[in-house]
Amino acid sequence: MITGRLRNTEYVIDLQALQDNIRAQRTALPTGSKILAVVKANAYGHGLLAVSQAALRAGATGMCVAILDEALELRDSGVEAMTLVLGITPVEEANVAAEAGVSLTVGSVDWLEQYHRLAQQFTWQKPLKVHLGIDSGMGRIGFTDLDEFHRAVKMVEQNPEFEFEGVFTHFATADSADDQYFEKQVHRWQEFIGSLDQLPPYVHMANSATGLWHRDQITANTVRMGISMYGYNPSGRELKANLPLKPIGTLKTTICFVKQLKAGRSVSYGATYTAAKDEWLATLPIGYADGYPRSLTGFKVLVDGHYCDIAGRVCMDQMMVRLPKYYPVGTPVVLMGKSGNLAITAEDLADKVGTINYEILTNISNRVHRVYHY
Ligand SMILES: *Cc1c(COP(=O)(O)O)cnc(C)c1O
Repeated sequence: MITGRLRNTEYVIDLQALQDNIRAQRTALPTGSKILAVVKANAYGHGLLAVSQAALRAGATGMCVAILDEALELRDSGVEAMTLVLGITPVEEANVAAEAGVSLTVGSVDWLEQYHRLAQQFTWQKPLKVHLGIDSGMGRIGFTDLDEFHRAVKMVEQNPEFEFEGVFTHFATADSADDQYFEKQVHRWQEFIGSLDQLPPYVHMANSATGLWHRDQITANTVRMGISMYGYNPSGRELKANLPLKPIGTLKTTICFVKQLKAGRSVSYGATYTAAKDEWLATLPIGYADGYPRSLTGFKVLVDGHYCDIAGRVCMDQMMVRLPKYYPVGTPVVLMGKSGNLAITAEDLADKVGTINYEILTNISNRVHRVYHY
């Protein structure tokens, strides 16, 4: 398929940088720690397959995805490494996971009982790999009640249709300077874990932020590494990353049209921008349908190492920028990433939009062609 390759708008992904990010963090973790690369949402927009393969090459043991479809996409592409679905899978679909060797998160006895009943009708005997999710304070999914958790452990240990593969929790504030809530969650997690006679092979509690700022509090053998693997700071700007993280993605395009705009002429929908004097104006073949938010109207891009203001509203597929001087069609433009000595980071875009770097990354749409540097 050549879709998207024919307009010079690209998301360039540096897989070497991804591997450097993984290795830098792995070195800082206790020896023997396992890493699960979090590749949900098309690997935070960077491409599920390419990122998963690169992460495995850098020493990751397996992957975490959000939904079963993402796990099956990996299996369809021939990736057989351990893959955990972090969200709740409908119990009627769970046998598909068992068959594909995909691990599922379970957060209630009710779900296990339903699967137990369904499994009576199965003619084959591939156990479903289960990770019991503990809600230590995130309030999203998982066991909150210790007794129910113990009943679940018993069920997965005693019934042959289950394999007890993992237990985990997720933190709500690991990226915050205030540790109080984090400490509460650690305490709750330890209550759950400490009450088990035997731990399953995968015990995991750390996301990127926990891996960066709470390393000495990790009582687990596995880290779920998400945003930090892509080279971004999980806290945005609140805490400084204590390891070298390199952003792996550069969003770029080239000028597709250039003209001199006469003083008094206006630009784009709503004619909100009017040239004060004669100026050079470039049109770029990228817009909000590519995941460059319309709310970045008034922001800037990088042309030849200069910041250039966006002129008028960002359109669905195109946008206009004011040039400091004439540049020809084909001149490279960086919307996120480095150009010369300057950079526009995902945090810069997030600040302007009023969101977090995660959302900027995951919004870059499939229409933008991904180019991989290995
Ligand atoms: C998304 C997610 C992660 C990864 O989070 P990062 O902040 O990107 O490291 C880890 N664990 C769970 C349960 C998640 O949903």
